[in-house]
Amino acid sequence: MSRIAYVNGQYVRHGDAAVHVEDRGYQFADGVYEVCEVWQGKIVDMPRHLDRLSRSLGELQIDWPMSRNAVEFVLRQVVRRNLVKNGLVYIQVTRGVAKRDHFFPSDDVAPSIVVTAKSTSPAAAEAQAEKGISVVSYPENRWPRVDIKTVALLPNVLAKQHAKENGGKEAWYIDTEGNVTEGGSTNAWIVTKDGALVTRPAENGILRGITRAVVLDLVKREDLTFEERPFSLQEAFEAKEAFVTAASTLVMPVTRVDGRIVGNGHPGSVALRLRELFHTATDLQTA
Ligand code: PLP
Repeated sequence: MSRIAYVNGQYVRHGDAAVHVEDRGYQFADGVYEVCEVWQGKIVDMPRHLDRLSRSLGELQIDWPMSRNAVEFVLRQVVRRNLVKNGLVYIQVTRGVAKRDHFFPSDDVAPSIVVTAKSTSPAAAEAQAEKGISVVSYPENRWPRVDIKTVALLPNVLAKQHAKENGGKEAWYIDTEGNVTEGGSTNAWIVTKDGALVTRPAENGILRGITRAVVLDLVKREDLTFEERPFSLQEAFEAKEAFVTAASTLVMPVTRVDGRIVGNGHPGSVALRLRELFHTATDLQTA
């Protein structure tokens, strides 16, 4: 079976899927995106992801490429046509195709939309979670509007590549005060020696992660102690546990930060429990 992508109104073979060379996403990174998990044939938290997409589009004054209902339909279609039971569905919207010019194009230029989906291996993800991951710190290198989920990911690419070259799976951004902001493509958490969960407030310096929000709901439901406040790299070194959250990783334990062992060097019980409970707190919609 060949993979199918949706590009500006058409379902095409993934290998043939393309946008114009003057798409503003390609030339200016003038676009936004979302990634939803697909779990057991269900799209996870689609309304929350589309709410965030709507906000990102609004902040950049890009119109919806079509109605929200139509976008939902296409997301479902792409998941189904690719026979994805477990995996990810990706949507990208850019300001459209126009002669290269920094100014916004005229109103008659329609936004571009691309949707793709891929299968992932739940077994591989669980094996990774049983081992945990290493993270590597990296100085914050992004613009201040990280609350907008733009496709301008070059800083994140550089941070994550640095992490990879230093034995890590994720980079943790450090701000000028020495605090961890978030990961290159995840939100960052620790569990203190006293058992309190700590994650940075979403007001500034981070993307308001959907997985983070679901985990916060879970934390409240389970009556766990939590503090939404910045935490330093030093605190992370001394933490009982650490983990990251994202639609692509769910709750993923962190066992090393900059080569230093976190807690006992094994995935923490709080992280593993939250991972296990994760889907009980999500909105699951049949693809
Ligand atoms: N932070 C950054 C920079 C991200 O790129 C992502 C996901 O791509 C996240 C956090 C996690 O967000 P979500 O839980 O919505 O996937």
